[in-house]
Amino acid sequence: MPMYEYRCRNCGATFDELVISAQEEVQCPECDEYTTEKLMSAFASGGSSGSSYAGASGGGCGTSGFT
Ligand SMILES: [Zn+2]
Repeated sequence: MPMYEYRCRNCGATFDELVISAQEEVQCPECDEYTTEKLMSAFASGGSSGSSYAGASGGGCGTSGFT
């Protein structure tokens, strides 16, 4: 279901609304006015933080200098 964020130009309230039709008039729940505008909701979905494992190759310990 398409869910859009709206903002009322009258009182400045923002709210989410399920919209079936794009031509639908959305009423503000705060002041009951129809002076609402659809906001471009920039949904940043999914926070995939790239974890890069740096393979630390252990150094060799062992200096065999026996004479
Ligand atoms: Zn309003």
